[in-house]
Amino acid sequence: MGELKRILISGASIAGPALAYWLQTYGYEVTIVERAPALRRGGYGVDVRGAAISVLQRMGILDQVRAADTGMTGVYFVDSHGRIKGRISEAGMGNRPELDIEVMRDDLTDILYRLTKDTVHYIWNDSITAIQETEEGTEVHFAHGKPQTFDLVVGADGLHSHVRRLTFGDEAQFKRTLGCYISIFTTRNDLHLKHCQQLYTIPGKTVGLYSARDNSEAKGMFIFKSAPLQYDRHDSEAQKQLAADQFSRETGWETQRLLHAMKEAEDFYFDEICQIHMPAWSKGRVALVGDAAYGPSPLSGQGTSLALVGAYVLAGELKRAQGDYTKAFAAYEQEMRQFVEKNQKIGLTAAGGMVASSSFQITLQSWMLRIPFVMNAMFHMISNSIAKAASVIELKRY
Ligand SMILES: Cc1cc2nc3c(=O)[nH]c(=O)nc-3n(C[C@H](O)[C@H](O)[C@H](O)COP(=O)(O)OP(=O)(O)OC[C@H]3O[C@@H](n4cnc5c(N)ncnc54)[C@H](O)[C@@H]3O)c2cc1C
Repeated sequence: MGELKRILISGASIAGPALAYWLQTYGYEVTIVERAPALRRGGYGVDVRGAAISVLQRMGILDQVRAADTGMTGVYFVDSHGRIKGRISEAGMGNRPELDIEVMRDDLTDILYRLTKDTVHYIWNDSITAIQETEEGTEVHFAHGKPQTFDLVVGADGLHSHVRRLTFGDEAQFKRTLGCYISIFTTRNDLHLKHCQQLYTIPGKTVGLYSARDNSEAKGMFIFKSAPLQYDRHDSEAQKQLAADQFSRETGWETQRLLHAMKEAEDFYFDEICQIHMPAWSKGRVALVGDAAYGPSPLSGQGTSLALVGAYVLAGELKRAQGDYTKAFAAYEQEMRQFVEKNQKIGLTAAGGMVASSSFQITLQSWMLRIPFVMNAMFHMISNSIAKAASVIELKRY
């Protein structure tokens, strides 16, 4: 097997730029193609924990990311009049103070982009349309650019990965739906929340508001349970309408004001809450990393950590295998598989608790919230299992 030089990555969010950083450090020539015209904005805070903290440290950006920590202090559950029914601290949510980091997703993508923009070739506003293996490598066709040959192609293009579809087939084979949809958008912090989040829960639905960027703005959120919905993933207006239809009759708390804010919002993230489970993360000269390969769902709070660790391990194993990509891809899977499975389990558990389906479940929840001892014991257990899963991989030095 000859020397590998040119690697193409699809997707410039977390997994893509993190992988690119390591590959260029090891001497590869790296290109990233991103479908959006620029880095995508939006999203809530994402968590970085356990082994992923060590990855940030090895990348030399731990202090920068820590400096961007959201400083959130906890989540408050409110009733339809906005009265507080209970609180869970950040520690209760699984974040260990001084150790784990919560950072706005787009602050982290900014940091990763700045770290790689001078050494990695970024192509914006384009997408791969075909990947063909040839004697010399892979011939890649793009929607706009000219075809090019690369030694390897990596899909870091998220839950609905296009590279995965081209290489492994239809998404339905790998997607495990968790039965909910989520919508997130930026709005004004009209409730003057200070480094905290408020959640209003009704049967099958949750409405949230989360203070962001030092309380100067907020992120609104709608989560709802639903049977699979058919919609165009590139049509934000239609997605806003889908979310709005679910909450149109709900008058409690800030629901109506937030529905209006969602309509006006410039950044808008909408997706089905689902996981990706694949028997293999590579085929020939194509591999997958991050959500594309093993998305654990936003409910696990571990998507970003898995992406950072996966990028580190994949690049490291490519370096170690010295051109034998088959060996490198196999080692990447072997190192990551158990870590991925443990973290995906957290997403499955959380999916059961995040959106209460019945009034009885909500009554039970609010009763538990009034008994700090029960609440603390429950969240202590959850946070321990998250901390354990986040560190269940021993990172090699490559
Ligand atoms: C706008 C946005 C908001 C998010 N908000 C949250 C949140 O609030 N909470 C949470 O837990 N997780 C959120 N996520 C998901 C979170 O970023 C991931 O779970 C995690 O960080 C792993 O990242 P990833 O790089 O593997 O995938 P992603 O972050 O999903 O990134 C995939 C990237 O690939 C690009 N892409 C997609 N298709 C193509 C294509 N055909 N060609 C080229 N590029 C393509 C996308 O535009 C995106 O930039 C969000 C993702 C996005 C894109």
